[in-house]
Amino acid sequence: MKVGVVGGGAAGLVAAITAVRNGAEVTILEAEARVGQKLLSTGNGKCNLGNLVLDPTCYYSGDAEFVARCLSRFGTKDTLAFFAELGLLTRDKNGYLYPFCEQAGAVLDVLRNEASALRIRVISERRVTGIKQDSRSSFLVQTGNECFSFDRVILCCGGKAAPKTGSDGSGYRLARELGHKVVPVVPALTFLKCEGDYFKAIAGVRTQARISLQNDRGEFLAGDQGELQLTEQGLSGIPIFQICRVAAYALREGNRVWAEVDYLPQISEKELKRLAEKRLPLQKNRTLEEFMTGILNKKIMQLLIKRAGLKGTAPANVMSLEKLESLLFEAKHFKTEVIGTGDFQHAQVCAGGVELSQITDDFESKRIRGLYFAGELLDVDGKCGGYNLQWAWTSGFLAGNAASRTV
Ligand SMILES: Cc1cc2nc3c(=O)[nH]c(=O)nc-3n(C[C@H](O)[C@H](O)[C@H](O)COP(=O)(O)OP(=O)(O)OC[C@H]3O[C@@H](n4cnc5c(N)ncnc54)[C@H](O)[C@@H]3O)c2cc1C
Repeated sequence: MKVGVVGGGAAGLVAAITAVRNGAEVTILEAEARVGQKLLSTGNGKCNLGNLVLDPTCYYSGDAEFVARCLSRFGTKDTLAFFAELGLLTRDKNGYLYPFCEQAGAVLDVLRNEASALRIRVISERRVTGIKQDSRSSFLVQTGNECFSFDRVILCCGGKAAPKTGSDGSGYRLARELGHKVVPVVPALTFLKCEGDYFKAIAGVRTQARISLQNDRGEFLAGDQGELQLTEQGLSGIPIFQICRVAAYALREGNRVWAEVDYLPQISEKELKRLAEKRLPLQKNRTLEEFMTGILNKKIMQLLIKRAGLKGTAPANVMSLEKLESLLFEAKHFKTEVIGTGDFQHAQVCAGGVELSQITDDFESKRIRGLYFAGELLDVDGKCGGYNLQWAWTSGFLAGNAASRTV
């Protein structure tokens, strides 16, 4: 059985290794000079390769039950066993899994070593430009002037996030040309661009916050909590990454989106009211800035005072308690309009992709027998925390396994 794997990224390498272990003869056609380039930049160079807490709710997709079934067939334990067999030591940091040496290169090395030990043919610098079905059981795969023939093909081209690592979105085109529907693709796990010239003044601040995205009618769209990073363009950090796909889709549909930031997520409004009442008599002779000192990050506090049309040097005790309270409440309801997201170059993954309704539980196309899909190319994207690589390992393993099976 001759299996062609298009794209030697995370999913493609696991699919190829699995198929060869099942007795197939495997060729990887890779667009870049080397396989697995994206892996090297994952997890800030440390590669967060999975998570001990693996739950279908950590994924967005067109079919949550399909994702749950796949994860139950190849989950975290299977990932750890797979890499242990390749000789990779791993470590767990609060459930987040990394190679023990915390170097992403180690994950790529063990995959490449295994591919070479199993004599997988890797043909690099070959971007696949077209795929045709020759007869019922054979595929002709075109790369520039060359043509390769395979019994089965696994498409593992990734999405179009971080295109400099090779994933330029050509996989979506190939899938469409072969008659598959693709759910609109938007950048995910990236920052939000927000309205407001004040972001320059607070850029660089990192603070705990709760963020909720809202629509025009003030209805909740998505939310998360964690360390927020302020940038010159708007909001960033893990909690923003987790929800930005929702903003990307809403904006794509022409809707307006607001981000409401709660800079004091640990303190309820009631507690804040009590705090203001207690604090005012103690801070009688202080300025407004001094009154606020220590409650909020200084730059955020100065911005709130300015936005309220007040002066930080003004004495706090000439202000009414209500005014001070409303200033503090503003810290819990800081609203800014979202005008965009980071582009594909700045996104860690893509949301959207090949519709799941078009593939079987074995990742085989329902339209074309012998054609398989794996990885980010599919309409599945995970949260931060090792979930996207887990999806690449899961889908790569299951597709590689099925594609090498003889009927
Ligand atoms: C900066 C960054 C950090 C990340 N950190 C993490 C993390 O710590 N943990 C985590 O779980 N996820 C992380 N991710 C996401 C994760 O890397 C991806 O979800 C995962 O690599 C997807 O695997 P894939 O094999 O589907 O696609 P890719 O890894 O993108 O591989 C696709 C391969 O196909 C090749 N290719 C594309 N088109 C063609 C074609 N037409 N012909 C031939 N070859 C082609 C490409 O060159 C590439 O080698 C991160 C992503 C980025 C960008």
